[in-house]
Amino acid sequence: MAEILIFGHQNPDTDAICAAIAFDHLQKALGNDTEAVAFSKPSEETQYALDHFQMKAPRVVQTVANEVEEVMLVDHNEFQQSAPDIREVKILSVVDHHRIANFETADPLYYRAEPIGCTSTIIYKLYQEHQIEIPEKIAGVMLSAIISDTLLFKSPTCTPEDVAIAKKLAAIAKVDLNEYGLALLKAGTNLNNKSPEVLVDLDAKTFPMGGFTVRIAQVNTVDVPEVLERKAELQDAMTASCEKNGYDLFLLVITNILDSDSTLLVVGEPKEKVEEAFQITLDNDTAELKGVVSRKKQVVPPLTTAFEK
Ligand code: MN
Ligand code: MN
Repeated sequence: MAEILIFGHQNPDTDAICAAIAFDHLQKALGNDTEAVAFSKPSEETQYALDHFQMKAPRVVQTVANEVEEVMLVDHNEFQQSAPDIREVKILSVVDHHRIANFETADPLYYRAEPIGCTSTIIYKLYQEHQIEIPEKIAGVMLSAIISDTLLFKSPTCTPEDVAIAKKLAAIAKVDLNEYGLALLKAGTNLNNKSPEVLVDLDAKTFPMGGFTVRIAQVNTVDVPEVLERKAELQDAMTASCEKNGYDLFLLVITNILDSDSTLLVVGEPKEKVEEAFQITLDNDTAELKGVVSRKKQVVPPLTTAFEK
């Protein structure tokens, strides 16, 4: 059993899983005894990437302190998005591209944060800095993470550095970037086979805001009306999740990956903060969010601001 576990956030997306895999490979090359793990199985999008590059999914764990004393975090830092027993282990390093909040350590650590589109872009730079070669398969999963996080470069979180590095990784991985990218994103939009409970929890994160607990979930689709046909059962699932987990407010961001707009579905209170944050009026608990595709950059910051008022 490895001495150090490496993992991304709860409800792992493609970056959380692939950054853990890529960082694990780098750490092993640097002589560390590490293992990439995840808090749940890969999504269909992530599984598409793993299958394409013939990589195994990280082992699924529920807690970490029962196995190791030391951990490395990728693609997150906030404790409520991490291992439930994160306070019981020593965090050796963080590589991340999110806001830093609800995070503290007893000891000094390596912390690499950059405001760019994807953790895997930062990890590419770490490979360069350590002069470690990136194998074809690892390049493939890192590329997949960049495509996923930036919605094939259409998200406002995407930087020229993400694009340039994705092109380099596509060359190493021997794939056509656009063709593979679209196929990967489409693999993540098959929502019909999922129960409403699963759907609202697929890519969901919790944020403390102004004394309230806010849950924000996001699903990608090429057909928003089709998702909204299930509005009532989605709202029921969101309400049940609020009651079970103590969330005050639950936002589901339904993102059309082709036109880069989103539709918002809201349950819980205070809803007026949502209207204030996005300058919208909810109509039957829904609203259009034109040009919004990034939870990190276009949903969390305005909502946080509204709650601070
Ligand atoms: Mn992520
Ligand atoms: Mn990420």
